[in-house]
Amino acid sequence: MSQRITTASKTASGAPSAASFPRHEQTFPALTPQEIARMRRFAEARNYRDGEKLFETGKPGPGMFVVLSGHVTITQRDGLGHVTPIIDQGPGQFLAEIGQLSGRIALVDGQAEGDVETLLISPAQLRALLVAEADLGERIMRALILRRVNLIQAGVGGPVLIGPADSSDVIRLRGFLTRNGNPHHLLDPKTDPDAAEVIARYSPSPTDWPLVVAPDGTVLRNPSESELARAMGMIRGLIKDRIYDVAVVGSGPAGLSTAVYAASEGLSVAVCDARAFGGQAGASARIENYLGFPTGISGLALTARAYNQAQKFGADMMIPVEVKALDCSREDGTFGLKLDSGEVLRARSVVVASGARYRRPEVANLADFEGRGVWYWASPIEARLCAEQEIVLVGGGNSAGQAAVFLSGHARRVNMVIRGGGLGASMSRYLIERIEATPNIELIFNTEVVALEGTAGASLERVRWRSRLSGEESGIDIRNLFLFVGADPATGWLDGCGVMVDRGGFVVTGAQIAKASGDPASALETSVPGVFAVGDVRSGSVKRVGGAIGEGAQVVATLHGFLGDTARPAL
Ligand SMILES: Cc1cc2nc3c(=O)[nH]c(=O)nc-3n(C[C@H](O)[C@H](O)[C@H](O)COP(=O)(O)OP(=O)(O)OC[C@H]3O[C@@H](n4cnc5c(N)ncnc54)[C@H](O)[C@@H]3O)c2cc1C
Repeated sequence: MSQRITTASKTASGAPSAASFPRHEQTFPALTPQEIARMRRFAEARNYRDGEKLFETGKPGPGMFVVLSGHVTITQRDGLGHVTPIIDQGPGQFLAEIGQLSGRIALVDGQAEGDVETLLISPAQLRALLVAEADLGERIMRALILRRVNLIQAGVGGPVLIGPADSSDVIRLRGFLTRNGNPHHLLDPKTDPDAAEVIARYSPSPTDWPLVVAPDGTVLRNPSESELARAMGMIRGLIKDRIYDVAVVGSGPAGLSTAVYAASEGLSVAVCDARAFGGQAGASARIENYLGFPTGISGLALTARAYNQAQKFGADMMIPVEVKALDCSREDGTFGLKLDSGEVLRARSVVVASGARYRRPEVANLADFEGRGVWYWASPIEARLCAEQEIVLVGGGNSAGQAAVFLSGHARRVNMVIRGGGLGASMSRYLIERIEATPNIELIFNTEVVALEGTAGASLERVRWRSRLSGEESGIDIRNLFLFVGADPATGWLDGCGVMVDRGGFVVTGAQIAKASGDPASALETSVPGVFAVGDVRSGSVKRVGGAIGEGAQVVATLHGFLGDTARPAL
């Protein structure tokens, strides 16, 4: 019978004991000697002297450590120099969180307390272990995810943002970090003494807000998402001369599904996304129609699971990386994807999963208020901004309905402005019933928003709308306007490479190509052999999470056929 190695109940460094963490038995499970013995074939021995660092905040993590003897203290060190003990780990414990699956930077420090003997399992070997050892792998994977969740909830280990909570750039960067599952911490420049010190040192001008202190202490002034991602080690350069079996563009449900199925079936996979994993679904407060979740699931929770799963099977997730153009000339037998960094990613096949981008209604000064009161999604961050306020939400589809129901729990009143005369043709019945049963949602039919008023570049103050029946105009003083008026396909990056699109710009595949050109193509193949399209970007797709995921699984069978038929270029 297996016997568990027990860990010290009181920690050496004064850090909280494991028992003080939520779900601590799953977050910090102890391994049995038999389990450790099974892990040895994936590991190499590493010993450390008292005080030596096993891993350091802000530097790429070497993988997962299993402690054989001695103790390791885990501490948080932020870019401002504060050190907080998190936990001590002893024999039978393993040290890692989800970032170690792909060798991301460490979010915490690990230091030997006395001499320590460990086994080190590299990221590649860790992925192999998770797949080969199903039961043990499940326990480890759950612990890695829960540890990241703890770090996110405590705001431990990521960058420190200094700026007013309602500034549009603070909201932009927090949205980016949250959508990508990165812990972070916000300091108020007016009240926090640490913030005051940084401000005194860097004297930011009004356009420099927020200041961002990366985990390694680097200070950035109002960075772009991509600058922040680089400072945090989220993006790494391409490995020279590497050729992937498949490059997936987009990590919404369709791209994630393609990545999980392709990587789990042995293909080498690169996934690029310009913003965050999850795509449009990641912005959905609650998906109620996805199979197997009778109480619904938030889009972020669903797609975060898939994102971790894709990494478990070894897919290279490159986020935020925008694909600017596709070169289909295939002179060396491969496709070239031109990235926003200027680098070219090479792959033997391409899956277009770039989905759709939010549509913007024709209101002259809309851009002046984007991120300053005009929103295209409704996450808890935006919801907090509307607490006890009256808001306007435009749209009559399912996404508008979900957002209205979600925001009605935060706002005093939600004015839902709808162009048509009813909801029956555009919204699911269950949502209509829920809206009708929610007293603080007001439905305003046959109406469109025509003007925004406020201080450009500052805040929205008033929205004007017009009745499409009487032409009468009226307005309302509000600070937050939510737009859910549909989306256009994200296909600009395909221009010039011969991929056929329909009149709306959606990528044409399969039977539609056969009809247009006479050449038969498999169901999800585009007019360029080796380029496939899945999910919302595909002409005729159902524009649902379930459909996107199904197509991602389906395309992988076709990919095998295509890759098997083409000569494999030398790596
Ligand atoms: C608020 C909201 C709620 C919704 N609720 C539901 C629901 O309850 N049930 C349901 O079934 N459906 C729902 N939907 C629809 C569902 O989210 C979509 O059908 C689904 O997300 C489509 O998945 P996709 O992977 O095809 O594309 P998307 O989700 O659009 O993902 C495309 C990804 O590609 C990336 N990308 C685009 N261009 C590039 C480029 N050049 N380089 C790199 N990356 C790029 C984008 O950043 C994006 O992450 C909802 C949609 C929204 C907006």
